[in-house]
Amino acid sequence: MIPRGSLTRDSEAAARDPEGAIVKIGIIVGTGMNDLAKGLEWAEVSTPFGYTVTATIQFGGREVVVVRRHGPGLNVPPHLINYRANLWAMRDAGVKPVLATAAVGSLRRPIKPSTLAIVRDFIDFSKRGNLTIYDTPGERLRHIDLSRPYCPLLSSVIEQAAAEIGVELGPRVVYVCVDGPRYETPAEVKMFAKMGGDVVGMTSAPEAILSRELDMCYGSLAIVTNYAAGFGEHKLEHDDVAAAAKQLQPTIRAILERAVALIPETGNGCGSVD
Ligand SMILES: [Zn+2]
Repeated sequence: MIPRGSLTRDSEAAARDPEGAIVKIGIIVGTGMNDLAKGLEWAEVSTPFGYTVTATIQFGGREVVVVRRHGPGLNVPPHLINYRANLWAMRDAGVKPVLATAAVGSLRRPIKPSTLAIVRDFIDFSKRGNLTIYDTPGERLRHIDLSRPYCPLLSSVIEQAAAEIGVELGPRVVYVCVDGPRYETPAEVKMFAKMGGDVVGMTSAPEAILSRELDMCYGSLAIVTNYAAGFGEHKLEHDDVAAAAKQLQPTIRAILERAVALIPETGNGCGSVD
């Protein structure tokens, strides 16, 4: 068991050298993005919240720590993902900015399948009980600020990367997060849209929350793979969702690679984290 108290000092020192350089960048690879994670050498990492696996690679000219969200075997469903271990392992490896991809369903007709869009905010409908690393009585009490849940700097960097390689992104979106693994009902989809949601998925809120708790910046590129339930005639199938995301893999890989290269190597960050 790793004492949780060692978090701030040790990993903060690892994340930035004395001049404030960003040494390592994290990428969380989601559904349909298997090619990005193919052939990597995975190493098991022990955290206070259990084990996960990471791979460290050179990508975009930088050192990047990769986590495969659904596990190395791609068989961990969203509600069983060990988000705390995944994010803790990144922080412990010295990661400061985290980029993620997220397959989502569209809640609005104008947001068409195959759209790529930056996530700007979330509404969390998940009922998970472990969305904090501060879950032990007597530990430091911490209520994180989520006025800007997704890093404005990373979001701009992803947009710039897309523009540079000629990919037009959709408008920034609000992500409704649900537990899954089931898809939503048509009534839920209507409700989510009325409440201000643009897309729905099962993973982004935990990652945004835990990244902030661990003082890492988090930016997410949503991949609209389908319309949510109630828009069309067809049943929603996971294989279709994964296949839709997979088609966009080369584009997303190129955006991420350019984005990684564009992340400033020095500076005091975006001000969203302490
Ligand atoms: Zn930031």
